Amino acid sequence: MPDNSPQTLIRDEIRALSAYHVPDSRGFVKLDAMENPYRLPLDLRAELGQLAADASLNRYPDPGAHRLKQQLRAALDVPAGMDLLLGNGSDELIQILALAVNRPGATLLGVDPSFVMFRMIATIVGLRYVGVALRPDFSLDLPALLAAVQEHRPALTFIAFPNNPTGNLFDPEAVRVLIGASPGLVVIDEAYHAFAGKSFLAELHRFPNLLVMRTLSKLGLAGLRLGMLIGRAEWLIELDKLRLPYNVNVLTQQLAACVLERVDVLEGQAAAIRSERSKVLAALSVIPDIRAFATDANFILFRAPSADTVFGGLKARGVLIKNLNGSHPALTDCLRVTVGTPEENGRFLDALRQSLPQHA
Ligand SMILES: *Cc1c(COP(=O)(O)O)cnc(C)c1O
Repeated sequence: MPDNSPQTLIRDEIRALSAYHVPDSRGFVKLDAMENPYRLPLDLRAELGQLAADASLNRYPDPGAHRLKQQLRAALDVPAGMDLLLGNGSDELIQILALAVNRPGATLLGVDPSFVMFRMIATIVGLRYVGVALRPDFSLDLPALLAAVQEHRPALTFIAFPNNPTGNLFDPEAVRVLIGASPGLVVIDEAYHAFAGKSFLAELHRFPNLLVMRTLSKLGLAGLRLGMLIGRAEWLIELDKLRLPYNVNVLTQQLAACVLERVDVLEGQAAAIRSERSKVLAALSVIPDIRAFATDANFILFRAPSADTVFGGLKARGVLIKNLNGSHPALTDCLRVTVGTPEENGRFLDALRQSLPQHA
Protein backbone atom coordinates (compact mmCIF):
# COMPACT_ATOMS: atom_id res chain seq x y z
CA MET A 1 0.00 0.00 0.00
CA PRO A 2 1.44 3.41 -0.87
CA ASP A 3 1.53 5.77 2.09
CA ASN A 4 -0.28 8.72 0.59
CA SER A 5 -1.32 10.33 3.86
CA PRO A 6 -0.81 14.04 4.65
CA GLN A 7 1.90 12.98 7.13
CA THR A 8 4.11 11.70 4.30
CA LEU A 9 3.10 14.05 1.51
CA ILE A 10 2.86 17.46 3.16
CA ARG A 11 6.26 19.07 3.86
CA ASP A 12 7.35 18.77 7.52
CA GLU A 13 7.72 22.55 7.96
CA ILE A 14 4.15 23.11 6.73
CA ARG A 15 2.69 20.52 9.11
CA ALA A 16 4.66 22.17 11.94
CA LEU A 17 3.10 25.58 11.19
CA SER A 18 -0.02 26.75 12.93
CA ALA A 19 -2.44 28.46 10.57
CA TYR A 20 -2.65 32.26 10.81
CA HIS A 21 -5.27 32.58 13.51
CA VAL A 22 -8.09 35.10 13.10
CA PRO A 23 -10.37 35.06 16.17
CA ASP A 24 -14.14 35.27 15.82
CA SER A 25 -14.91 38.94 16.47
CA ARG A 26 -18.70 38.91 16.01
CA GLY A 27 -20.40 41.04 18.64
CA PHE A 28 -17.18 42.59 19.94
CA VAL A 29 -15.84 46.12 19.88
CA LYS A 30 -13.22 45.11 17.32
CA LEU A 31 -9.86 46.68 18.11
CA ASP A 32 -7.60 43.77 17.19
CA ALA A 33 -6.67 44.15 13.52
CA MET A 34 -5.62 47.77 12.81
CA GLU A 35 -8.71 48.45 10.73
CA ASN A 36 -10.01 51.97 10.12
CA PRO A 37 -13.21 52.13 12.24
CA TYR A 38 -14.98 54.66 10.02
CA ARG A 39 -17.36 53.93 7.14
CA LEU A 40 -17.30 55.91 3.90
CA PRO A 41 -19.71 58.85 3.44
CA LEU A 42 -23.15 57.92 2.09
CA ASP A 43 -22.76 59.65 -1.29
CA LEU A 44 -19.53 57.79 -1.96
CA ARG A 45 -21.10 54.52 -0.87
CA ALA A 46 -23.96 55.10 -3.31
CA GLU A 47 -21.44 55.70 -6.10
CA LEU A 48 -19.63 52.47 -5.21
CA GLY A 49 -22.94 50.62 -5.23
CA GLN A 50 -23.64 51.80 -8.76
CA LEU A 51 -20.15 50.84 -9.91
CA ALA A 52 -20.55 47.36 -8.46
CA ALA A 53 -23.94 47.00 -10.15
CA ASP A 54 -22.53 48.03 -13.52
CA ALA A 55 -19.27 46.08 -13.31
CA SER A 56 -18.64 43.44 -15.97
CA LEU A 57 -18.42 40.51 -13.62
CA ASN A 58 -18.60 38.14 -16.61
CA ARG A 59 -15.22 39.43 -17.83
CA TYR A 60 -11.76 38.91 -16.41
CA PRO A 61 -10.30 42.01 -14.78
CA ASP A 62 -7.80 44.25 -16.58
CA PRO A 63 -4.61 42.24 -15.89
CA GLY A 64 -2.55 45.46 -15.84
CA ALA A 65 -5.08 47.41 -13.69
CA HIS A 66 -4.21 50.50 -15.71
CA ARG A 67 -6.83 52.92 -14.39
CA LEU A 68 -6.26 51.92 -10.79
CA LYS A 69 -2.49 52.32 -11.16
CA GLN A 70 -3.00 55.83 -12.51
CA GLN A 71 -5.11 56.74 -9.49
CA LEU A 72 -2.55 55.22 -7.15
CA ARG A 73 0.31 57.14 -8.73
CA ALA A 74 -1.46 60.38 -7.96
CA ALA A 75 -2.77 59.39 -4.53
CA LEU A 76 0.54 58.00 -3.25
CA ASP A 77 2.88 60.54 -4.89
CA VAL A 78 4.85 57.82 -6.64
CA PRO A 79 8.15 59.40 -7.73
CA ALA A 80 8.56 59.97 -11.47
CA GLY A 81 10.29 57.08 -13.18
CA MET A 82 9.15 54.51 -10.60
CA ASP A 83 6.67 51.72 -11.32
CA LEU A 84 3.92 49.93 -9.40
CA LEU A 85 3.15 46.24 -8.91
CA LEU A 86 -0.24 45.42 -7.36
CA GLY A 87 -1.04 42.51 -5.10
CA ASN A 88 -4.05 40.92 -3.46
CA GLY A 89 -3.04 42.68 -0.26
CA SER A 90 0.61 43.26 0.54
CA ASP A 91 0.72 39.72 1.89
CA GLU A 92 0.66 38.46 -1.70
CA LEU A 93 3.53 40.79 -2.60
CA ILE A 94 5.61 39.45 0.29
CA GLN A 95 5.00 35.97 -1.09
CA ILE A 96 5.94 37.00 -4.65
CA LEU A 97 9.18 38.55 -3.37
CA ALA A 98 10.05 35.47 -1.32
CA LEU A 99 9.38 33.14 -4.26
CA ALA A 100 11.45 35.30 -6.61
CA VAL A 101 14.67 35.10 -4.58
CA ASN A 102 14.19 31.52 -3.40
CA ARG A 103 17.42 29.91 -4.55
CA PRO A 104 18.68 26.95 -2.47
CA GLY A 105 20.22 28.33 0.72
CA ALA A 106 18.86 31.87 0.25
CA THR A 107 18.02 33.88 3.38
CA LEU A 108 15.22 36.30 4.25
CA LEU A 109 16.30 38.79 6.93
CA GLY A 110 13.94 40.54 9.31
CA VAL A 111 13.86 41.98 12.79
CA ASP A 112 12.10 40.42 15.78
CA PRO A 113 9.48 41.14 16.87
CA SER A 114 7.95 42.31 13.61
CA PHE A 115 5.11 41.44 11.23
CA VAL A 116 4.58 37.67 11.55
CA MET A 117 3.92 37.18 7.84
CA PHE A 118 7.60 37.80 6.97
CA ARG A 119 8.65 34.70 8.87
CA MET A 120 5.56 32.71 7.96
CA ILE A 121 5.89 33.29 4.22
CA ALA A 122 9.62 32.48 4.36
CA THR A 123 8.68 29.13 5.91
CA ILE A 124 5.90 28.50 3.39
CA VAL A 125 8.14 29.02 0.35
CA GLY A 126 11.15 27.30 1.94
CA LEU A 127 13.42 30.33 2.48
CA ARG A 128 15.67 30.43 5.52
CA TYR A 129 14.50 33.14 7.93
CA VAL A 130 16.96 35.06 10.11
CA GLY A 131 15.47 37.51 12.61
CA VAL A 132 17.71 40.03 14.39
CA ALA A 133 16.38 41.02 17.82
CA LEU A 134 15.35 44.63 18.34
CA ARG A 135 16.80 46.46 21.34
CA PRO A 136 14.66 46.45 24.52
CA ASP A 137 13.25 49.87 23.52
CA PHE A 138 12.30 48.32 20.12
CA SER A 139 14.87 50.34 18.17
CA LEU A 140 17.06 48.74 15.49
CA ASP A 141 20.25 47.06 16.69
CA LEU A 142 22.28 48.28 13.72
CA PRO A 143 25.60 46.57 14.65
CA ALA A 144 23.76 43.23 15.04
CA LEU A 145 21.93 43.77 11.74
CA LEU A 146 25.14 44.59 9.88
CA ALA A 147 26.78 41.50 11.37
CA ALA A 148 23.81 39.38 10.20
CA VAL A 149 24.09 40.90 6.72
CA GLN A 150 27.78 39.97 6.61
CA GLU A 151 27.17 36.45 7.88
CA HIS A 152 24.02 35.48 5.96
CA ARG A 153 24.18 37.70 2.83
CA PRO A 154 20.35 37.93 2.77
CA ALA A 155 18.72 37.94 -0.66
CA LEU A 156 15.74 39.80 0.79
CA THR A 157 15.26 42.00 3.87
CA PHE A 158 11.96 43.33 5.23
CA ILE A 159 11.72 46.36 7.50
CA ALA A 160 8.26 47.49 8.60
CA PHE A 161 8.31 51.29 8.97
CA PRO A 162 6.53 51.88 11.37
CA ASN A 163 6.98 48.42 12.84
CA ASN A 164 4.14 46.08 13.77
CA PRO A 165 3.49 45.07 16.60
CA THR A 166 5.67 47.66 18.34
CA GLY A 167 4.28 50.75 16.55
CA ASN A 168 7.54 52.72 16.36
CA LEU A 169 9.39 54.19 13.40
CA PHE A 170 13.02 53.12 13.24
CA ASP A 171 15.82 55.66 12.92
CA PRO A 172 15.78 56.40 9.15
CA GLU A 173 19.55 56.86 9.10
CA ALA A 174 20.07 53.36 10.55
CA VAL A 175 17.71 51.99 7.89
CA ARG A 176 19.72 53.80 5.18
CA VAL A 177 22.95 52.26 6.46
CA LEU A 178 21.29 48.82 6.37
CA ILE A 179 20.04 49.33 2.80
CA GLY A 180 23.48 50.54 1.68
CA ALA A 181 25.22 47.54 3.28
CA SER A 182 22.78 44.94 1.92
CA PRO A 183 23.85 42.69 -0.95
CA GLY A 184 20.17 41.85 -1.56
CA LEU A 185 16.84 43.54 -2.04
CA VAL A 186 15.49 45.61 0.89
CA VAL A 187 11.75 46.18 1.15
CA ILE A 188 10.46 48.96 3.41
CA ASP A 189 6.91 47.98 4.39
CA GLU A 190 4.99 51.23 4.92
CA ALA A 191 1.60 49.71 5.79
CA TYR A 192 1.08 52.41 8.46
CA HIS A 193 2.29 55.35 6.41
CA ALA A 194 -0.96 57.30 6.85
CA PHE A 195 -0.31 57.50 10.59
CA ALA A 196 3.42 58.17 10.47
CA GLY A 197 4.09 60.64 7.70
CA LYS A 198 7.67 59.43 7.08
CA SER A 199 8.50 57.46 3.96
CA PHE A 200 11.34 55.98 1.93
CA LEU A 201 9.58 56.69 -1.40
CA ALA A 202 11.86 59.65 -2.09
CA GLU A 203 14.92 57.42 -1.54
CA LEU A 204 14.08 55.00 -4.35
CA HIS A 205 16.30 57.00 -6.71
CA ARG A 206 19.20 56.79 -4.29
CA PHE A 207 19.23 53.03 -3.59
CA PRO A 208 19.11 50.57 -6.51
CA ASN A 209 18.21 47.67 -4.15
CA LEU A 210 15.24 49.38 -2.46
CA LEU A 211 11.51 48.74 -2.89
CA VAL A 212 8.70 50.40 -0.91
CA MET A 213 5.51 48.49 -0.07
CA ARG A 214 2.18 50.09 0.78
CA THR A 215 -1.35 48.81 1.34
CA LEU A 216 -4.86 50.28 1.41
CA SER A 217 -5.76 47.97 4.32
CA LYS A 218 -4.89 50.24 7.23
CA LEU A 219 -6.14 53.32 5.39
CA GLY A 220 -9.73 52.09 5.33
CA LEU A 221 -10.10 49.48 2.57
CA ALA A 222 -8.98 46.27 4.27
CA GLY A 223 -11.91 44.42 2.73
CA LEU A 224 -10.82 45.19 -0.85
CA ARG A 225 -7.37 43.59 -0.46
CA LEU A 226 -4.98 45.83 -2.34
CA GLY A 227 -1.26 46.16 -1.75
CA MET A 228 1.43 47.75 -3.90
CA LEU A 229 5.14 47.58 -4.45
CA ILE A 230 6.77 50.75 -5.70
CA GLY A 231 10.20 50.82 -7.29
CA ARG A 232 12.36 50.48 -10.34
CA ALA A 233 10.91 48.77 -13.39
CA GLU A 234 13.94 46.46 -13.60
CA TRP A 235 12.78 44.76 -10.37
CA LEU A 236 9.03 44.94 -10.93
CA ILE A 237 9.22 43.43 -14.45
CA GLU A 238 10.79 40.30 -12.95
CA LEU A 239 8.44 40.12 -9.97
CA ASP A 240 5.43 40.57 -12.25
CA LYS A 241 6.21 37.18 -13.81
CA LEU A 242 5.31 35.51 -10.50
CA ARG A 243 2.02 37.35 -10.14
CA LEU A 244 -1.04 35.27 -11.02
CA PRO A 245 -2.65 37.03 -14.02
CA TYR A 246 -5.89 38.28 -12.43
CA ASN A 247 -4.82 38.74 -8.83
CA VAL A 248 -6.65 42.06 -8.39
CA ASN A 249 -10.32 41.43 -9.11
CA VAL A 250 -12.79 43.59 -11.02
CA LEU A 251 -14.54 44.99 -7.94
CA THR A 252 -11.31 45.85 -6.16
CA GLN A 253 -9.99 47.64 -9.25
CA GLN A 254 -13.13 49.69 -9.79
CA LEU A 255 -14.04 50.45 -6.20
CA ALA A 256 -10.50 51.31 -5.12
CA ALA A 257 -10.04 53.63 -8.12
CA CYS A 258 -13.30 55.38 -7.23
CA VAL A 259 -12.40 55.84 -3.55
CA LEU A 260 -8.92 57.07 -4.48
CA GLU A 261 -10.51 59.93 -6.42
CA ARG A 262 -11.67 61.04 -2.99
CA VAL A 263 -8.51 60.09 -1.12
CA ASP A 264 -9.05 63.22 1.03
CA VAL A 265 -11.87 61.28 2.74
CA LEU A 266 -9.48 58.53 3.82
CA GLU A 267 -6.85 61.07 4.80
CA GLY A 268 -9.41 62.89 6.94
CA GLN A 269 -10.25 59.63 8.69
CA ALA A 270 -6.55 58.92 9.26
CA ALA A 271 -6.20 62.39 10.81
CA ALA A 272 -9.13 61.64 13.15
CA ILE A 273 -7.46 58.36 14.12
CA ARG A 274 -4.16 60.15 14.83
CA SER A 275 -5.93 62.63 17.06
CA GLU A 276 -7.75 59.82 18.92
CA ARG A 277 -4.42 58.03 19.27
CA SER A 278 -3.03 60.92 21.34
CA LYS A 279 -6.10 60.83 23.59
CA VAL A 280 -5.93 57.06 24.17
CA LEU A 281 -2.19 57.29 24.80
CA ALA A 282 -2.72 60.08 27.34
CA ALA A 283 -5.48 58.09 29.07
CA LEU A 284 -3.30 54.96 29.21
CA SER A 285 -0.35 56.88 30.60
CA VAL A 286 -2.24 57.85 33.77
CA ILE A 287 -3.41 54.30 34.55
CA PRO A 288 -1.09 52.93 37.23
CA ASP A 289 0.76 49.74 36.19
CA ILE A 290 0.15 50.30 32.47
CA ARG A 291 3.16 51.15 30.36
CA ALA A 292 2.19 52.34 26.88
CA PHE A 293 4.88 52.56 24.21
CA ALA A 294 5.25 55.50 21.83
CA THR A 295 3.57 54.86 18.48
CA ASP A 296 3.54 56.18 14.93
CA ALA A 297 0.85 53.74 13.79
CA ASN A 298 -2.92 53.34 14.30
CA PHE A 299 -2.41 51.05 17.26
CA ILE A 300 -0.81 51.19 20.69
CA LEU A 301 1.36 48.52 22.27
CA PHE A 302 1.19 48.46 26.06
CA ARG A 303 2.38 46.32 28.91
CA ALA A 304 -0.04 45.34 31.66
CA PRO A 305 0.49 43.19 34.73
CA SER A 306 -0.95 39.69 34.05
CA ALA A 307 -1.71 40.51 30.43
CA ASP A 308 -3.56 37.22 29.85
CA THR A 309 -6.01 38.05 32.63
CA VAL A 310 -6.44 41.62 31.41
CA PHE A 311 -7.02 40.38 27.85
CA GLY A 312 -9.65 37.92 29.14
CA GLY A 313 -11.27 40.67 31.23
CA LEU A 314 -11.53 42.93 28.19
CA LYS A 315 -13.04 40.11 26.16
CA ALA A 316 -15.56 39.34 28.87
CA ARG A 317 -16.57 43.01 28.65
CA GLY A 318 -17.03 42.81 24.90
CA VAL A 319 -13.74 44.36 23.75
CA LEU A 320 -11.41 42.39 21.48
CA ILE A 321 -7.76 43.48 21.25
CA LYS A 322 -4.59 41.46 20.51
CA ASN A 323 -2.76 39.50 23.16
CA LEU A 324 0.95 39.32 22.33
CA ASN A 325 2.03 37.73 25.60
CA GLY A 326 3.99 34.59 24.79
CA SER A 327 4.49 35.44 21.11
CA HIS A 328 8.06 36.72 21.67
CA PRO A 329 10.23 37.18 24.80
CA ALA A 330 10.37 40.96 24.21
CA LEU A 331 6.56 41.08 24.26
CA THR A 332 5.97 39.48 27.65
CA ASP A 333 2.74 40.90 29.14
CA CYS A 334 2.18 43.05 26.05
CA LEU A 335 -1.20 43.82 24.51
CA ARG A 336 -1.93 45.73 21.32
CA VAL A 337 -5.02 47.87 20.81
CA THR A 338 -6.11 49.42 17.53
CA VAL A 339 -7.29 53.02 17.79
CA GLY A 340 -11.04 53.08 17.11
CA THR A 341 -13.80 55.68 17.19
CA PRO A 342 -14.02 57.90 20.29
CA GLU A 343 -16.89 55.72 21.55
CA GLU A 344 -14.99 52.46 20.99
CA ASN A 345 -11.89 53.88 22.66
CA GLY A 346 -13.98 54.94 25.65
CA ARG A 347 -15.39 51.44 25.96
CA PHE A 348 -11.89 50.00 25.71
CA LEU A 349 -10.51 52.28 28.42
CA ASP A 350 -13.44 51.60 30.77
CA ALA A 351 -13.15 47.84 30.24
CA LEU A 352 -9.38 48.04 30.76
CA ARG A 353 -9.69 49.86 34.07
CA GLN A 354 -12.20 47.26 35.23
CA SER A 355 -9.99 44.37 34.09
CA LEU A 356 -6.82 45.35 35.95
CA PRO A 357 -5.90 43.06 38.87
CA GLN A 358 -6.10 45.67 41.67
CA HIS A 359 -9.57 46.77 40.56
CA ALA A 360 -11.36 44.15 42.69
C1 LIG B 1 -1.27 44.85 8.37
C2 LIG B 1 0.07 44.79 7.75
C3 LIG B 1 0.21 44.50 6.42
C4 LIG B 1 -1.06 44.18 5.70
O1 LIG B 1 -1.15 43.69 4.62
P1 LIG B 1 -2.35 43.50 3.62
O2 LIG B 1 -2.13 42.12 3.14
O3 LIG B 1 -2.12 44.55 2.61
O4 LIG B 1 -3.64 43.67 4.36
C5 LIG B 1 1.46 44.51 5.84
N1 LIG B 1 2.55 44.80 6.59
C6 LIG B 1 2.45 45.08 7.90
C7 LIG B 1 3.68 45.42 8.69
C8 LIG B 1 1.21 45.08 8.52
O5 LIG B 1 1.11 45.33 9.82
